[in-house]
Amino acid sequence: MTYSLTWLPAVLKGAGLKVVEQPGWKTRGHGDMGKVQGIICHHTAGPLKGNAPSLNIVTNGRPDLKGPLAQLVLGRDGTFYIVAAGLSYHAGKGNWQGVTAGNSHFIGIEAENTGLANEKAWPAVELDAYARGCAAILAYIGAKPIMCCGHKEYAIPKGRKPDPANIDMNAFRKTVTAIMAGVVAAPPRPIPPDVPAPPRPPPIPDAVPTPPRVPDDNGDITFPPPLEKQPRGSWKIRLLVFVVFVVVIAAFLLLRSNS
Ligand SMILES: [Zn+2]
Repeated sequence: MTYSLTWLPAVLKGAGLKVVEQPGWKTRGHGDMGKVQGIICHHTAGPLKGNAPSLNIVTNGRPDLKGPLAQLVLGRDGTFYIVAAGLSYHAGKGNWQGVTAGNSHFIGIEAENTGLANEKAWPAVELDAYARGCAAILAYIGAKPIMCCGHKEYAIPKGRKPDPANIDMNAFRKTVTAIMAGVVAAPPRPIPPDVPAPPRPPPIPDAVPTPPRVPDDNGDITFPPPLEKQPRGSWKIRLLVFVVFVVVIAAFLLLRSNS
């Protein structure tokens, strides 16, 4: 069954964001969402290396909690990976603006970050995409910036969750507000990946060796005039002449011996 958040890729792409749809995302979920009222922002607490190393765990879950664990994973390069169109287990017990059934009413975004001191500074491109993605979703569902909260703000009891670490959610919401108001310019259009150039053929060695460079009186490098190249195919002509010559001699000797 296809769940209801199938609008996510179009809305994110419409905001100029990079989007990758994960296989099976439209039918992934623990049932369908209720009325979508906002977003809970998380960090993955995953590995330090890689763009989205937590994609698998968010999609398939952990031994103690079945996936999906969020609808979206945000890679370090600002790519949104669409994991699920249905309800995901990311909220737990909490309350934000009176909403207590977080999984039913909030979209979960798991942004790749260790949450540790080794990644205190978020990549600028990831943070920028985080705010733009939230702004686009809130605009689409008709919600105000306040409906975008951190897991650390939603979770009960207070202090149960630290994520997203090192993001001041009030400052984050100010950025989201500015993007929604059109105060912040849209990002440049994503550049399509480079088409790999065809492999170059190996260089053909020159028949004539390059003469050594000779420094002139000024210390500059001068190049002596190149040597004359042998015209192509001259050895073939010589061979032909030789063969004809041998045939003629042989014929001459044969005629003489027969006469
Ligand atoms: Zn969280």
